[in-house]
Amino acid sequence: MTGGYNLHVLENDNKNSIDVGLKYVNNDACYPSLLVVGQIMDALESGKYDPDHTAVIMSQTGGGCRASNYIAFIRRALKKAGYAQIPVISFNVVGLESNPGFKLNPDLAVRIVFGAVIGDIFMKCLYRMRPYEKVPGSADRLHKKWEQIVIRQLQAKHVSWTRFNNLCRQIIRDFDRLPVTDEKKPRVGIVGEILVKFAPAANNHLVDLLEAEGAEAVVPDFVDFFMYSFYNTRFQYEHYGTSKKSMVLMNAGIKAVQLLRKAADDEFEKSVHFTPSAKIEKLAEYASPIVSIGNQTGEGWFLTGEMMELIHSGVENIVCIQPFGCLPNHVVGKGVIKAIRQDYPMANIVAIDYDPGASEVNQLNRIKLMLSTANRNLQEDNKAL
Ligand code: SF4
Repeated sequence: MTGGYNLHVLENDNKNSIDVGLKYVNNDACYPSLLVVGQIMDALESGKYDPDHTAVIMSQTGGGCRASNYIAFIRRALKKAGYAQIPVISFNVVGLESNPGFKLNPDLAVRIVFGAVIGDIFMKCLYRMRPYEKVPGSADRLHKKWEQIVIRQLQAKHVSWTRFNNLCRQIIRDFDRLPVTDEKKPRVGIVGEILVKFAPAANNHLVDLLEAEGAEAVVPDFVDFFMYSFYNTRFQYEHYGTSKKSMVLMNAGIKAVQLLRKAADDEFEKSVHFTPSAKIEKLAEYASPIVSIGNQTGEGWFLTGEMMELIHSGVENIVCIQPFGCLPNHVVGKGVIKAIRQDYPMANIVAIDYDPGASEVNQLNRIKLMLSTANRNLQEDNKAL
């Protein structure tokens, strides 16, 4: 029970959900919408949920992309499967729907934000340390240990900022002390469309694949995507005349998240192995010579900004992943690679498309080709030292 709701985050991001999704969504829609609908329908078909006492909630940014149709896709699938009575709640901050039966109380909001920030800490710590661990399985065990502690704390009757800050610091310190080897491995950034980037089933377990191939995966923070959405209101206010109130509110949101991440960022700064989270203003500064900040559909300028941020932090190998047919991200992802290479000839970027019918062998070959260049560059760097 969280914030008065019995909330279940679906964990079925797997091949079966993709197959179920294909039954309900035509595959000329985006792959992420297909997977989202597939996960929901797979969960309902499992019999675990009473359809008369269940609601579906999904977060939306409300941008100009097909993502804004997800709720309609979900409702259509529910109706088709005979679950028309299940309410679908759009969780958004731009007033897409009113959702009178759902109240985001401050307690629940705080727990969601704490959880998201800690999720990013886990991701950073685990991906940074696991490829070099001295004792096989030790990084995963440490993650599981802290995961249980975090779940307990976030489900406790009261959550406090002080306890949250201490938790962030302790997790980082513990991971920083994990015994690791001094091997040199190519570091490979993963950027792209948000769902394909973070749902392992959607990207055919790309992080595991990179680690198995002897590389370290570097995945920028999940929370930064929301910072991008908040930051966009500046451009919208200045150029499209949208509401000043919303811009001021969203800027306050950026400041609030920066404040929430401060304890973790300070600890990352002090650590041996980690670096603090990127600043959204810096990402916009990096992206703006290449694409306009007005590119706000899909991942927009943020995708370009993340690639530039990775390159500036020394991660020159990048896999840019997007759903097949995702026009906005092809423009700001694949479309900018040539421009980036002109200024950064060492940038080793490969663009990979994902969808239910994409050839895994083809994806693997392209990734291996990128990795062979990455390994060659690493050897040359080592010789130069
Ligand atoms: S960004 Fe791409 S994948 Fe996401 S909704 Fe838009 S077209 Fe679909």
